[in-house]
Amino acid sequence: MTATILDGKALAAAMKGEIAAEVAEFKMKHGFAPTIAVVRAGEDPASVSYANQIQKAFQAAGMGFTLHLLSATASQAEIEELVATLSKDHSVHGIMVQEPLPKGIDEEAMKAQIAPAKDVDGVTPVSMGLLAGGVGEFFAPATPAGGMEILKRSGIALKGKRAVVIGRSSIVGKPMALLMLHQHATVTICHSRTVDLPAVAREADILVAAIGRGKMVGAAYVKPGAVVVDFGVNFVDGKMVGDVDFEAVKEIAGAITPVPGGTGPMTNVLLMKNVIMAAAKRQAA
Ligand code: NDP
Repeated sequence: MTATILDGKALAAAMKGEIAAEVAEFKMKHGFAPTIAVVRAGEDPASVSYANQIQKAFQAAGMGFTLHLLSATASQAEIEELVATLSKDHSVHGIMVQEPLPKGIDEEAMKAQIAPAKDVDGVTPVSMGLLAGGVGEFFAPATPAGGMEILKRSGIALKGKRAVVIGRSSIVGKPMALLMLHQHATVTICHSRTVDLPAVAREADILVAAIGRGKMVGAAYVKPGAVVVDFGVNFVDGKMVGDVDFEAVKEIAGAITPVPGGTGPMTNVLLMKNVIMAAAKRQAA
């Protein structure tokens, strides 16, 4: 059996069209564009490249994008002051602070300065609490929200399914597990101390990899017919690979997200959706 490829790239392209139409309507109605402010300290190449991608995607959809640069040695006070100013700025609807931050920065204290209404990547304690509780409207981190959108738009139901997530970070693994739980999956979260990981992973109808180890998830981790969602972004010999050994696993899985072209392209799309939601909520307030 060869797995169905869950083509995140094509899905993201289609959704960008929908978003552009939504933004045009929003601008007509309210007279301004939903706008994100991205904060970066220093010139980490991966962060620079990510900010460029965000800028391109937002501008192509007619949305606003502003970049706020600090030095790589910026202090806690400088970063917090900038974030607090953006939180009060009415022309900004969403705030994203890029990592890495300078050494010694207390990230939790910085995150507490992001107004929850502008927390479009779901990093503040308020957003995380609402996500854990599954109550009301909340901003889920864009990467797992993108993975959920792939499942939804591919017609993959979660109710009653066994889901296993490998990875428990607060930006990918844990929120993905919570989002699937809210859709009534029975969810297990695994991590580096999990005993006999392949055996636990093989119980999954939906297997999610958010590990950061190139091609770690091989055929022995996958139940025949399972849906495999790969969030991994790793570089091996200059080539981008996921956390899943795609070539081996596609022969066993029922459906699989490729890397590149799977979950990656969906992240910006969900970030855009969150910024539109933040702008709309402010207008409704
Ligand atoms: P983290 O390093 O924060 O978390 C990795 C998780 O994997 C941890 O929970 C860790 O366990 C677990 N882990 C590490 N090694 C093993 C192992 N050998 N066996 C079992 N579990 C293990 O990574 P992130 O969550 O930030 O990112 C995960 C992946 O997703 C990365 O490849 C990253 O590049 C990618 N990513 C992709 C994005 C996208 O847009 N598609 C966006 C963000 C990230 P423990 O907690 O015990 O240490």
